Formats: sequence, C-alpha cells, structure tokens
Amino acid sequence: MAILCSSVPSLSLKKLIIPSKPSLISPHSNHLANFFQTMSSVLMKPEPRSSPSAAATIHQVPGLDYDEIDRIAEETFQRYSTSPSRIGRGGGIAIVWFRNDLRVLDNEALYEAWLSSHMVLPVYCVDPRLFGTTYYFGFPKTGALRAQFLIDCLADLKKNLIKRGLNLLIREGKPEEILPSLAKDFGAHTSVEAKCTIRCCIRTPNSLGPPPIVGDWGCVPSINQLGVPLQNVSKGMAFLGGENAALSRDFLKIYKETRNGMLGPDYSTKFSPWLASGSLSPRFIHEEVKRYEKERQANNSTYWILFELMWRDYFRFLSLKYGNSLFHIGGPRKVEHRWSQDKNLFESWRDGLTGYPLIDANMKELSTTGFMSNRGRQIVCSFLVRDMGIDWRMGAEWFETCLLDYDPCSNYGNWTYGAGEPHLHGSSHSHSCVFGFCLHEDILLKRA
Ligand SMILES: Cc1cc2nc3c(=O)[nH]c(=O)nc-3n(C[C@H](O)[C@H](O)[C@H](O)COP(=O)(O)OP(=O)(O)OC[C@H]3O[C@@H](n4cnc5c(N)ncnc54)[C@H](O)[C@@H]3O)c2cc1C
Repeated sequence: MAILCSSVPSLSLKKLIIPSKPSLISPHSNHLANFFQTMSSVLMKPEPRSSPSAAATIHQVPGLDYDEIDRIAEETFQRYSTSPSRIGRGGGIAIVWFRNDLRVLDNEALYEAWLSSHMVLPVYCVDPRLFGTTYYFGFPKTGALRAQFLIDCLADLKKNLIKRGLNLLIREGKPEEILPSLAKDFGAHTSVEAKCTIRCCIRTPNSLGPPPIVGDWGCVPSINQLGVPLQNVSKGMAFLGGENAALSRDFLKIYKETRNGMLGPDYSTKFSPWLASGSLSPRFIHEEVKRYEKERQANNSTYWILFELMWRDYFRFLSLKYGNSLFHIGGPRKVEHRWSQDKNLFESWRDGLTGYPLIDANMKELSTTGFMSNRGRQIVCSFLVRDMGIDWRMGAEWFETCLLDYDPCSNYGNWTYGAGEPHLHGSSHSHSCVFGFCLHEDILLKRA
C-alpha cells in the first residue's frame, strides 16, 4: 500500500510509500460517528450564502448558476481527462491524503496512487487544530467564511471523486494519528521524495475506481460541527468553494488593465481562494493561458497572470528556505524593532473604525466577504505597521482568521515585506516607497 500527499510548495510532491497488505478500513469510533451524525449531503446544491434582503448588492463569484458551473466544469474535465487501460497498474491499496490540494484535475498524488495500485483510498482529516486559535494573539484560526469555503471544497471533491468511481473518506482528528493508524491496518514503511519541476497538467483517468470496501466513508461536516458560527455574506462578493466553481471562472478578459482595481468581481482573477485550498491547480491556469495565447492571442493580461503566479511560488520557496522564522517578530533577518500592541488602536483598524475611509472600507470588506484586493492589503498593512506602529503579527493573524485565500507562505511573506523585513537586497525597504512595499512598487514602476 502507498500513502501519497501533495506538499505545501505548489511544484513538489511528497510521497510516503507503504507496502501492500489487503485489509478493511476500521469503522468510526462512536465519538466520530456523533461528530458527523447530521451531515450536509454532498450531492446537494449548496445553500445561497447571502441574506435575501441584501441580495441585490452581492456578487456571487463565479457569477453563474450551479447548473452552469457544473456544465462548464464537466467540459473542462473532459478536456483534461483520458481513458487509459488498466494494463501496467500496480497492486494493493494506495491512500491519498488530501490536505490543501482539494481537487481531482491535475492532482499528481491521486494520479500516481491510481497508477501504482489496484485501489485508491482518498482520505481527508478534519484537524481540530485548524479551528483553534492563532499562535500569538488568540484570534479564531479559521473564520466562518473560510470554514464554509472549505466545506464547499470538500463537498465538491467528494462529488467529483464519486463521479469517477471513488469516494472520500472523512475522519475527524490529527492526521499524524489517523494516517499511521490506517497505515498500521495495512502494514507500512515510509520514504519521502520531492520533485520541483514545472510540468503539464496530468490527464485524469475518467474512472479512478474501484474503491476499496469501507464501512463508513464519513460525510462533509457542517459549519456547526466545525465549531464555527455561521456567517452570511451581506454585501460585496460571495465566493463559492469547490473545484467546479473554480473551473467555471472566465479569467482572461481584461486582467492587465484592471488588476490594480479594488472593487468588484472582475478586476483580477479572484483565483486565490481556490488556489489556497488546492481546489485549483496553478498548472491548469498556466496551461489554459498558453492555450488561449495559441488559439487567440498573447497579450498583457496573459503575461501578467503568469507573472503574478510566480509571486505565489516565490513565497512558497521563500518559506521553505526561511522556515518558521517567517512567523517571528524579527523575521528571517531578526530585525529588532519596538512594536506597540495597543489594543484600542488595533481594534479600530480591525473593525474598520480608523476614520480613514480607504482603510475602513478595505477592513470592512475583509470581515464581510473574506476577500480584499492586493492593493487594499498593501495599504492596510502599511497603515497598521507604519502609521500605527502596531506589531505586524497582529495584522497577519487577523488576516489569517479572515482571508478566504489564507495561505501561510503568501500571508506571512507579504506581511514581513510590509513590516520592513525584506528578504531581498538585504536592506529595509522603507527607504524607497511611500507604503513601504519596495518589491511590489519596483514592479509597478517597471510595468508603467
Ligand atoms: C499583506 C498581504 C497579505 C496577503 N496574504 C495572502 C494570502 O494569505 N493568500 C494569498 O493567496 N495571497 C495573499 N496576498 C497576495 C495577494 O494580495 C492575493 O494573492 C491577491 O490579492 C488575490 O487576488 P487574485 O486571485 O484576484 O489575484 P491576481 O492578481 O489575479 O493574481 C493571480 C494569482 O497570483 C498570486 N499572487 C498575486 N499576487 C501575489 C502576491 N503578492 N503574493 C503571493 N501571491 C500572489 C495569487 O495566487 C493570485 O491568485 C497577500 C498580500 C498582502 C499585501
């Protein structure tokens, strides 16, 4: 048997190889059975997120109805699917551990597992630590909107796996306990392998079955079961989680001209929530952009989308290089600076009550929708650390609570930039630009 999982960096794969020994997966404990008792049905269409009175001011992202989303996603799946013969496939059962790679399309671990085994067992662990509190300041680790987005992603993943002859085993608990216990059932040893090359999207086999026999596959948890209060979007953009929603979004229209905008669903791709949950592959975006360029035209928009994605990779590799120091107050360079932790000042920023309309509007957008434009993020970050002198980690942890697209590498990487903990050039970037975003502003200058 093999256990495979996608690792945090977008271009690498960690692989745990475990020898095969046929066995059944043990059923849930009573506690788990209670926890997942009243599950939302994964095949049901999601409930609308907005309160009806405010419906007129809400932009659903993507702005399509559910049938249209499923239709476009299915067409895309067809383009990226294949029907290979079973000849050459290995034996035994392979476990695929889904973490922040909640998709079927271009999922290397899933494909490798399918290729190297007779049966595939996809597993997701609902880790209670994700719903605890942030490390330094005790904010909720996952806000209600991201929790709901995760539920959408899991429901979509389960649905798409079932369509391809599999299912998703959902367990509550720590992966480091659940996976070894599954592995123990089958007998295991491990080895780790990492890859760092850019490749084309993997063509997903139309059928991934047969699934192993499992007593209880578990269900997608409801928001209450995650211990998170329900929050409806009352204004602005309401994002729908899941792979199908991501695949149905048309993103190549006028990206370059609008990317530095701040309002509405169409000024930038809005791919980050799906990228962060792994329900969308960055390689899929790359391949679609290349296809568009070949079939229609290469333009500023196509160039800049790929360029922005490099920032995502950059912060991932940066995190690999600097590790936990990205979370420390002095950053990787251990810069010494006196920060304030003034509660009143921080709360006025957090709640959008500073009296500065630009800051307040952006902060309210964040807590109402879970999203903020890139330019907005830069400005509120700069305001907190430079104008208020507040400990940047308070801002970063608040973003961690609220952002739909929260990603440790991009969030803490960008915050350490904003706070003046440069990773490049070896100097503070307060010297060269108004908001202290040396790197970004340099790029903007080059663009002009
Ligand atoms: C203080 C601060 C915190 C941030 N925290 C996060 C975070 O937790 N998660 C996150 O995904 N992004 C974060 N960003 C980066 C950026 O703001 C968002 O990725 C972007 O606004 C998402 O919108 P989009 O998908 O429409 O981006 P687009 O402009 O359409 O860009 C396409 C993709 O490129 C990547 N990208 C673009 N800019 C950046 C960047 N500066 N850093 C890293 N990746 C980038 C994203 O994956 C994005 O989806 C942060 C930026 C700042 C200044």
